[in-house]
Amino acid sequence: MKKFGFLMFLVVIMIAFPKMADASSYSAKIYLDGQQINLSSGVKVENNNGTVMVPIRVISENLGFDVYWNKATKTVTVQDGSQTVTMVIGSQQADINGQRVQMTKAPVLRGGTTLVPIRFVSEQMGLQVRWDNAQKAVYLTSSYDGNNPGEQPGVATSTVDGISFSENRLMVAVTGNTKPNVSKLSSPDRIVIDMVNTNFSDTFSSNASFDDVTKSGQMAVTGYPDVKAVRYSLYNSNPTTVRIVIDLNYAKNYTVSGLENGSGVFIVDLNTGSNPTPGTGGKKLVVIDAGHGDHDPGAIGVTKKREKDFNLAMALKVEKLLAKEQNIEVVLTRSNDTFLELKDRAKIANDLKADVFISIHANSGPSTASGTETYYYNESDKALANALHKEIVKAMGLKDRGVRYGNFHVIRETKMPGALLEVGFLSNKTDESKLFDPATQDRVAEAIVRGIKNYLKVD
Ligand SMILES: [Zn+2]
Repeated sequence: MKKFGFLMFLVVIMIAFPKMADASSYSAKIYLDGQQINLSSGVKVENNNGTVMVPIRVISENLGFDVYWNKATKTVTVQDGSQTVTMVIGSQQADINGQRVQMTKAPVLRGGTTLVPIRFVSEQMGLQVRWDNAQKAVYLTSSYDGNNPGEQPGVATSTVDGISFSENRLMVAVTGNTKPNVSKLSSPDRIVIDMVNTNFSDTFSSNASFDDVTKSGQMAVTGYPDVKAVRYSLYNSNPTTVRIVIDLNYAKNYTVSGLENGSGVFIVDLNTGSNPTPGTGGKKLVVIDAGHGDHDPGAIGVTKKREKDFNLAMALKVEKLLAKEQNIEVVLTRSNDTFLELKDRAKIANDLKADVFISIHANSGPSTASGTETYYYNESDKALANALHKEIVKAMGLKDRGVRYGNFHVIRETKMPGALLEVGFLSNKTDESKLFDPATQDRVAEAIVRGIKNYLKVD
């Protein structure tokens, strides 16, 4: 092809496929706690197929985290307190406090500038992230607490009429069609309920302690070990938003019910089957941790199966079996597709003074890698790892890759004997199909229970 012809060809291609470039640079706005971040001149934010990528200097200069760049290994490390996120240019595998996590987009180099996915990094560092596509803006929130005083009140279409806490359940009486948004936050552990376009009713203060000036109140909760207190406030005036916070003594699962049929009451129930009041009656307490969850899928398999789903399925199966045991109580760190920080997983086990902690994972590596690994951190935990490993290898029937030392956050920070299981490789076709085969999962669950019982020497 002649040069002119080739140029014409290029022009035609660019007209026909204007989106052929996989990334577009533009001046997206970034807000931190409502304040727009002033990006240094020349700092370009990039939208890579829906993932917003920012230069690492935004992470250090604007968000205030420590950032280290190793040119030789092309590694970026972001650090804040005990939280460490390590990413490598071109790799979707990140490392969070020693544990592997899958990212949606790998960090990239653009003319000497390293770009990282802002949602992933921010969420790992404990920020809430929201992307407003119309405004092309990233909203980061470092804390959910606080008021927005001085704004004009919005129009509320619903009211909160009363609030009570009993039977380990929060009950909220409402008028109108408000849709409560319930979420779990950590450091400190709490459950936050936001109701947009909702205000307190005029009679609310006659039903609950309420300060009319600060538009807030608090309810002391006694006799429920999970809960410290319940507080509520007019959190935002535009749009008018009521926020109720259940302050917890440790991370806790919950279920939300009511309002489907206009009953006028909705309930946030802490009596979920997965975490009973534990450690009572001289029974051994086992905490099972299903790795990853929600936005963190963990490793992705050959046929795109997600590690988080395997981990959860296994945890639920082990829970079901352990629930039948007379001398063992079981608590799951998560019993649905939610995400917990690593430190919260360890904290649950530590707060409950569990006897055993087991974190369930599946591995990823070269497609030829196959088999079962079990990790311990403290030399004294090796007996637990050995007891589990022996049984799981038999149940999986794959290569025995051995009991190994691993500096993983959850088994390092837990104070009781702990083990981290890498049951098989999702990156290997045979392993992956076994890991997701219900009959094999049942066998592995039984194996884990046998290992626990042998280690704890209980019948
Ligand atoms: Zn994992």
